Amino acid sequence: MSWLTKLMPSRIRTEGGGKRAVPEGLWEKCDKCGAALYGPELEKNLRVCPKCSHHMSIGARERLVAFLDDDSGEEIGAALGPVDALHFRDQKKYADRIKAAQKSTGERDALVAVQGQLKGNPICVAAFEFRYMGGSMGSVVGERFALAAERALELKCPLVCFPPPVARACRKACSR
Ligand SMILES: [Zn+2]
Repeated sequence: MSWLTKLMPSRIRTEGGGKRAVPEGLWEKCDKCGAALYGPELEKNLRVCPKCSHHMSIGARERLVAFLDDDSGEEIGAALGPVDALHFRDQKKYADRIKAAQKSTGERDALVAVQGQLKGNPICVAAFEFRYMGGSMGSVVGERFALAAERALELKCPLVCFPPPVARACRKACSR
């Protein structure tokens, strides 16, 4: 499965659950002004509300598709998956958290890395998937990032990384 075709099921899953869920999966409610927005139109507008210009959350793969040239790209480290080496447990088993995050996002881990083209120039780009445990940094994130950096060095091209969005509370704390 190419990294692009993987986008479709993930998007459908997003529309099927969570607070953005709307019957039929075609309409979404703006988080700020509450306007009902037609899904395909919202995607075309890069998930910016046409009524109030609010920037809605965007998944890692959607961001990469919007950023890169059409139909360009090869995923880096796609086969890597997380391991629970410490058998860690807090309120839940870490292994269960991983399974739940994978099921809800359709991603194996929190970072998607791709080698593609931007305006015809080679580029390596990575994006964090916030819906995957807030873009949690585990061994797969580190390995994919390192592989993307090595690929960029090899190709002598730029490496761009989109970090996970900063939580509102964190932003507030940082502005003090
Ligand atoms: Zn709005």
